[in-house]
Amino acid sequence: MKVAIVTGASRGIGACVAQGLAEDGFSLALTARSKDGLDQVAKKIKEANHKGVQILTFPCDVSDSKAVNQMVETTVKKFGRIDLLVNNAGMSKTGTLAISADDFDQVLSVNLKGPFALLKAVVPTMKSQGDGTIINIASRAGKIGFAGWGAYAASKFGMVGLGESLYRELSPMGIRVTTLCPSWVDTDMAKVSTFPANQMLSPDDILKSIRYIMSLSPAAAVKELMIECRAHLA
Ligand code: NAP
Repeated sequence: MKVAIVTGASRGIGACVAQGLAEDGFSLALTARSKDGLDQVAKKIKEANHKGVQILTFPCDVSDSKAVNQMVETTVKKFGRIDLLVNNAGMSKTGTLAISADDFDQVLSVNLKGPFALLKAVVPTMKSQGDGTIINIASRAGKIGFAGWGAYAASKFGMVGLGESLYRELSPMGIRVTTLCPSWVDTDMAKVSTFPANQMLSPDDILKSIRYIMSLSPAAAVKELMIECRAHLA
């Protein structure tokens, strides 16, 4: 049995990735805050009737590290292992200094401390397996600080740094760590963009990138993958 945890699985990139991984035979632990959203995604996957695929849904807020620990413990209890973590849950908020200190804290709590809590909870299991793949979904804004997006960029630059350190620590132990840095992806989050939806990346591009990374031989290590929108390179 192959087992994946996907955070932010109630919609957008996470929902698409969860459905694709089920096609690939992964049993899934899906998490996000919305129980309804998770139930809908789980229902779709169950209807597709993938042989041997089991699903656990666990609504929780990634900024609540206790709840994250419970989710990971429940996953290991049910499935016995974790082969893949897609550290995807995130939020966006515009503002660099034109953002309250509370909002700045919230962006960091969800986008940086949340993924940190997941990594802290999951990595011991992968270490004991001597095997596993971690995909952190950061952003192109984790490589380039855009005007008006300073809080979001700070959280995603943080995720890129955290991912790179772990890549160096865990790769020698047989655990792959890749941080994806996509530009606009056509989901709810990108509704604030003035960029046309038909020129954005699709959630399926992210699924394909994850499949590509997992298809490489154990000799290969991909630290980072930046995926830009061809029509929007500025
Ligand atoms: P989305 O459609 O808004 O989905 C965000 C997901 O994260 C939802 O499942 C949401 O579920 C979950 N989430 C948000 N806050 C959470 C919290 N506090 N605790 C647990 N789950 C939470 O956005 P998306 O585009 O799929 O984004 C997924 C990831 O890709 C994010 O990390 C985002 O920063 C990154 N990204 C997106 C784009 C883009 O243009 N869309 C570009 C680059 C990177 P609930 O609301 O049910 O909690």
